[in-house]
Amino acid sequence: MEGKNALITGSTRGIGKAIALELASRGYNIILHGTVSSDKTKAVLEEVKKKGVRAAFLAGDVSDYASCKKIAEQAIKEFKQIDILVNNAGITLDRTLKKMAPEEWSKVIGVNLNSLYNVTSTILPAIPDEGRIINISSIVGITGNFGQTNYAATKAGAIGFTKSLAKELGKRKITVNAIAPGFIQSDMTEQIPLEMLANILELIPMKVMGKPEDVAKAVAFLASEDARYITGEVLRVDGGLNF
Ligand code: NAP
Repeated sequence: MEGKNALITGSTRGIGKAIALELASRGYNIILHGTVSSDKTKAVLEEVKKKGVRAAFLAGDVSDYASCKKIAEQAIKEFKQIDILVNNAGITLDRTLKKMAPEEWSKVIGVNLNSLYNVTSTILPAIPDEGRIINISSIVGITGNFGQTNYAATKAGAIGFTKSLAKELGKRKITVNAIAPGFIQSDMTEQIPLEMLANILELIPMKVMGKPEDVAKAVAFLASEDARYITGEVLRVDGGLNF
């Protein structure tokens, strides 16, 4: 993959960081991204560079179009083309609909769903034929989940976005796929109360949570030449969970 460039949104930690490290270990140059630059993001950048690839960190808010345009300009100036775009940045603000404030609804829609337009439309001019767009959805976008109407709506939206864009970009052999992770160990799932976690584990046939690396390996496959004829698909990475 020498010379190929991958941009992963929200790659300061968790699943995004694991994707960056996995793609770097396969030889892709990496553009890391997060909301702000910090000592932590500098450490992640060094970890990626140790894999022997070119890497940079860009800061910006994916829910803000102007910020995404700036990120795209910087990425294109430095790396010229973006062969792989992974739309990974995401948040949860869980609350039953009855108690959900308008800001809790719109913040999640902004970061998880508007970001797909903001990032993808500004990066698209730099994606070459045979490029890859991989969107990180969630199983709750397929099944729904108590207390997650906002989050599930964005993750279902990511699937519709994926399937539509796959149809638009097929003639250029750019594939567009989604990954739907189940419950993966990260800061996001740290927030789940222990009692609820025990119930979730009961529902997972494999009886364990996934690791960020499990999602990263699936991304690496969809990014690879081996997946050249797969587009508009949703790949579940969930240990068999079906709730
Ligand atoms: P995480 O550990 O909380 O990391 C979230 C990442 O998104 C961070 O890098 C964060 O950057 C970035 N981010 C958040 N808001 C942003 C904004 N407004 N602009 C730019 N970047 C922003 O989450 P994760 O568990 O790795 O989740 C990654 C993706 O997988 C998300 O889309 C999530 O919905 C999805 N997912 C996760 C699970 C799971 O079980 N963990 C399951 C299904 C799907 P900062 O560090 O700068 O805040």
